[in-house]
Amino acid sequence: MTNPLLARDGLPDFASIRAEHVEPAVTTIVARHRDTLAALTAQPEPTFVSLIEPFEDANHALTRVWNSVQHLNAVLDEERFREAYNKCRVALADYHAEVGQNQALHDACAQIREKESATLDGTQLKLLDDLLRDFRLAGVALPTERKQRFRELMQQLAKAQSKFEENVLDATQDWTLEIRDEDELAGMPAGAVARAAAAAGSRGLDGWLLTLDEPNYFAVLSHAENTSLRQRFYEAWTTRASDRGPSAGRFDNSALMQEILELRHETAELLGFSSYAELSLATKMAADPSEVLGFLRDLAARYRPAAGREFEELQRFSGRSLDAWDVSFYAERLRRERHSVSEEALRPYFPLPRVVEGMFAVASRLYGLSFQAREGVSTWHPEVRYYAITDKSGREIAGFYLDPCAREGKRGGAWMHDCISRKGFGGTRVIPVAQLVCNFTPPVGDAPPLLTHNNVVTLFHEFGHGLHFMLTQVDYPSLAGIAGVPWDAVELPSQFMEQYAWQPEVLPLISAHVDTGAPLPTDMLEKLLASRVFHAGLHAVRQLEFALFDFRLHTEYRPGRGARVYDILEEVRREVAVIRFPESNRFAHAFMHIFSGGYAAGYYSYKWAEVLAADAFSAFEDTGVFDAAVALRFLDSILSRGGSRDVMEAFVEFRGRKPEVTPLLRKDGIAA
Ligand SMILES: [Zn+2]
Repeated sequence: MTNPLLARDGLPDFASIRAEHVEPAVTTIVARHRDTLAALTAQPEPTFVSLIEPFEDANHALTRVWNSVQHLNAVLDEERFREAYNKCRVALADYHAEVGQNQALHDACAQIREKESATLDGTQLKLLDDLLRDFRLAGVALPTERKQRFRELMQQLAKAQSKFEENVLDATQDWTLEIRDEDELAGMPAGAVARAAAAAGSRGLDGWLLTLDEPNYFAVLSHAENTSLRQRFYEAWTTRASDRGPSAGRFDNSALMQEILELRHETAELLGFSSYAELSLATKMAADPSEVLGFLRDLAARYRPAAGREFEELQRFSGRSLDAWDVSFYAERLRRERHSVSEEALRPYFPLPRVVEGMFAVASRLYGLSFQAREGVSTWHPEVRYYAITDKSGREIAGFYLDPCAREGKRGGAWMHDCISRKGFGGTRVIPVAQLVCNFTPPVGDAPPLLTHNNVVTLFHEFGHGLHFMLTQVDYPSLAGIAGVPWDAVELPSQFMEQYAWQPEVLPLISAHVDTGAPLPTDMLEKLLASRVFHAGLHAVRQLEFALFDFRLHTEYRPGRGARVYDILEEVRREVAVIRFPESNRFAHAFMHIFSGGYAAGYYSYKWAEVLAADAFSAFEDTGVFDAAVALRFLDSILSRGGSRDVMEAFVEFRGRKPEVTPLLRKDGIAA
């Protein structure tokens, strides 16, 4: 029996891949990788061509298998697949840790870097420098007993972080609210009420049961007219996994937060950094902690006056002094009154096929690309489409799958995932293939899916990631597309592309009434465009509060003094926030992005990339959003270069100067 996961070329045969293929494929490919690595590092005189290129090849083969497994795990609803995935995920993480500490490989890389520095090109040198940096960050250069301590720290951290996350999930699931009287749900969207009725029914209860998940939390806080319902939800949500609120002390993350910060600090010191923030920046675009802090404080100072005005206006509108649990509710009312354009009313104007066709037209005008839907490609679901991309000369340069709608068992959210990376050395050429996955509302009957404008922006965002991945000209997979791009710059192409979904020149291309084909009426268009900057100040100061809190926490930690989590949060709030929070608010106890996710000392990346994207887009402002010459410069300097060059250098080459914040402030209606 051949294992479809182990096919070496062409597109993966997704329709044939089963749960029982996962473990044998991963075991085989890891064994092959290990053998290759042993043979490569046994060479007496390794060179870039004899060691690095075959190493890239072996990584490409391993990644090809694992990418498909990861992808199917996210889009299929199959218990057996999930089990196989989880088992292999642990094994693979161990193997990566082993490679990260491979002394022979490290020494060979260092030797090649020294011997061939005069003959290798910039991309090859960057590849070696990144490898050596990652070895250093994996503790390879440490003396033996410290290496041992480093491994212990990694294990303890992994354990503490997953316990943190578990506590948040358990606390979230632990709390529910039973409602007997439908009047208490006044104002709530019909969908949320129906979900609550179904939740009650499935537990044999009468009435409605509100669980504490994110959609319910936002539905209650934005729409429920009942103030005490909002307050109870707010308290339950903002005290999760803490020493306060309805489940006080039962899933308390207090000690874990201290432990995580302590372990991170020790790891950083072991590797020669003075703080975890410095360690985090070793792989990012921002140069040092003071640059990040300066960046965040500067933005906070610029947004705060606008946020203050927005909040005052909201209090006037509501006719009362607002508590934290009132803000979203009155904001929603004000938004509706002022912009009177509902997402639901826009849906018939954004049928998916029209949006996709218009989105392709935009990419075609910018980069001279053509898109062809291809029939007969093996996929994981009948709704999935495959598109081939050709360049001006008609050469096929990339492809992607589009899986647009929500399904039972499919993971929520939207993402771009790399299926096959570009590779082009040693006589072989592999074109990049991506997956664009969204969770739009499925259509009824034969009608096409109808998108909200918010959905349209999401699709453009993921398409932006996709173009970054697919238009790369870099031949080494570890630097091609998104690989090797610093975390704080990776959202540049996606947020750049989002801007197109808001342009008056683009909206007619992506909209047409599903039944009549009529264009989006001018008044709706104008209201939609005006609604873009609604409460931009309040949103920005909230994000800046999170970012400053995260960054200061990881900069200021000192052993013996403790983490000062809520002291720092209080200081940041005094500096940045305009809405007062109740003393019981324990939001940090459930801040998974920084305590258990990948954003530790990195939450600032959201704003950082937003500045880059808005500034890059503003290059088009003088000559028009479709200016092909500017687009070509963007493609050549940034989009096609992946991780092969320093991002700041690339940005300066494109823009003629360093990034500025004014274009973002203008986009948000904060600056003229
Ligand atoms: Zn993104």
